Amino acid sequence: MTTTLFSGGHVLTQDAEGREYRDGCVLVRDDRIAFVGAAADRPMEPVDRVIDVTGKLVMPGLINGHSHLCMVFGRTLGPEKRLLEWLDVQMPLMAAFDQEAMYVAQMLGCLENLKNGNTSVVENLFSTHPEGYPPEDAAFQAMRDAGIRGTVARAFEGRHFHPDFMETLDQQARRVTDLAHRWQGAEDDRLRLAIGPLLPWCMTEEMYRETRALANDLSLCLHMHVAESPEFNQLIARHFGRDIRQVELLEETGCLGPDVQVAAVSDVSAHEIDLLARTDTRVLLDPPTRLFWGTGFPALKPFLDAGLTCGLATNGPAANCGQDLFESMKYACATAKTAANDPLALGRHRVLRMATSEGARAIGRDGQTGRLEAGLKADLITVDLRQPHLTPNLDTAAALVFSAKGTDVRDVMVDGRLLIENREPLFIDEGALLRQAEQIARCCLRAAGLSHLCP
Ligand SMILES: [Zn+2]
Repeated sequence: MTTTLFSGGHVLTQDAEGREYRDGCVLVRDDRIAFVGAAADRPMEPVDRVIDVTGKLVMPGLINGHSHLCMVFGRTLGPEKRLLEWLDVQMPLMAAFDQEAMYVAQMLGCLENLKNGNTSVVENLFSTHPEGYPPEDAAFQAMRDAGIRGTVARAFEGRHFHPDFMETLDQQARRVTDLAHRWQGAEDDRLRLAIGPLLPWCMTEEMYRETRALANDLSLCLHMHVAESPEFNQLIARHFGRDIRQVELLEETGCLGPDVQVAAVSDVSAHEIDLLARTDTRVLLDPPTRLFWGTGFPALKPFLDAGLTCGLATNGPAANCGQDLFESMKYACATAKTAANDPLALGRHRVLRMATSEGARAIGRDGQTGRLEAGLKADLITVDLRQPHLTPNLDTAAALVFSAKGTDVRDVMVDGRLLIENREPLFIDEGALLRQAEQIARCCLRAAGLSHLCP
């Protein structure tokens, strides 16, 4: 048994009562939190290691509910393009990946998430299907090696897509069943598999129903992009040949429910919000990426008024050029206030829950992570409060949401294992990884005939 004590800091628990301890401590025993509370009340047992967090905040690790680490090599390529044109650059680049490229991309993405304080990430992976190795294995291996709490949400593309990325329903069923046996719940449930369509116009209604049935058979969550913009809903109506919007289609095909995570939800009607709420479907919001595309953002307040469980996300590092969930918190508030013309539309305490406890519930990990509470997994971060942009610290929640950045995160623990200490990764050679990623990204660009984009 190993025990670690975080001592001397300000502890923000994010528990149901919203408890905070100014002179608090967190005791970790093996992979779980053993005690959270005032330093004076801690059990007097010998500990193996004391980490002095004076001047720092200790809080739950952040939950990044939707990303595409598989696109990290496309970061900064095409920021002035429309989404579908941008995909025309990104897809050939990804089609040039081999197993090593996918592993290195995923490792880089994991490290970026960890250094931003994201202890959990959902990787919405789409890829070609090379003979010899499943690309999802490379993603899982990277998550296993990086130590992050990760879900690989494997995206299905059935038709009208880049030919190398498409597969049949039979191929999906076979590949997903194999993956589920190898990875679902691996590393003491640190790793999970989810499935879902990448985009609605790469699906038929039968494909939606069969994907739902497969998820049910294997007890997997569904994870997918939904109603990203008005243009997407228009494409859906044209593709399915009738006047239907995406959430209505999901309801018809049985693809709503508490085990369904819908990401990027932007253009939804009041009726669709009602459908999401009645089915307790989980929503993942990525405001910086919505602003990046300039195609509109969700009003948010109607989601909260409807009682929806909402998590936060960055979306992929190529789609908003970063993985900073502090940025997502800030822009969630900013867009909610703007849409409602109401400064109370989304408050700092609620958005902090969306990044932690509510975010964990949104991705089906409530009761495992997202709060500092005895018995839960020890996924926590420290934030350095002694900095010019965080001084004076008159309201810690407001400082975290509106002033803090991912680079303020100093230490990161997942599953009781300290992965980052004072911003230094303890188990990843960061310098070597960055050099390797730079080299492989340029090789993939050359192979894809895209070298002219980065002279
Ligand atoms: Zn996405």
